[in-house]
This record gives sequence, structure tokens and C-alpha cells, in this order.
Amino acid sequence: MCMDYEIIYKAANSHEAHFIKGLLKQYSIESKLLGENLSIGVGELPVSVLQVDILVPKNRIKKTKIIISNYENNLSSVESKKNWECISCKEQNPPSFDICWNCQD
Ligand SMILES: [Zn+2]
Repeated sequence: MCMDYEIIYKAANSHEAHFIKGLLKQYSIESKLLGENLSIGVGELPVSVLQVDILVPKNRIKKTKIIISNYENNLSSVESKKNWECISCKEQNPPSFDICWNCQD
């Protein structure tokens, strides 16, 4: 059996690629990773080759796109919920604060 695979996502590194592969597996979607086992010297190559392409069967693309967009939404919401540290006084500020509560910097 030969299934057609298509690149659905370019992971920044193989760590992220494996994370997404595992995520898709939870939804019974088999994926393939491409580009993580490069045997050529990385130093001579553009940074983009460190990316790992994630491929899924063509008939799974629609579902995979939904899963990945949920994943990306989660990433950005986690990021925005983080406290931030004031660079002047090192106090922690809740994400809703634009300026430091302590020194108003
Ligand atoms: Zn401060």
C-alpha cells in the first residue's frame, strides 16, 4: 500500500517535530518526519535545514490542520499568561500589567 504524504508543518527542530508526531498519534494520525537525520555538516548549511518537515497522509490533512492550529493557539495563550519580570527591579508582574507595579518602569 502506498499512501500519499504531504508536508503539513515545518517544526523548528526535531524536539518539536517529535512532540507534534506524538500529538497526532493521539488522534490516530500517523506522521512522518523528514530532515532530522541529515548527515551533512550543519555548519555549512542555512538554518532552515535544521527544520523538520512533518508529513501526514493526504486524507488526514484537514484533521491535522485543526490539531496543529489548536496546538499553536495553546502555545500563544501559554506564552501570554506567563508573568513577566521587570528588567529594572526584577519583580514579577502579572501578564495583564503593561508596566511594572513596583517601579512603574
Ligand atoms: Zn520594576
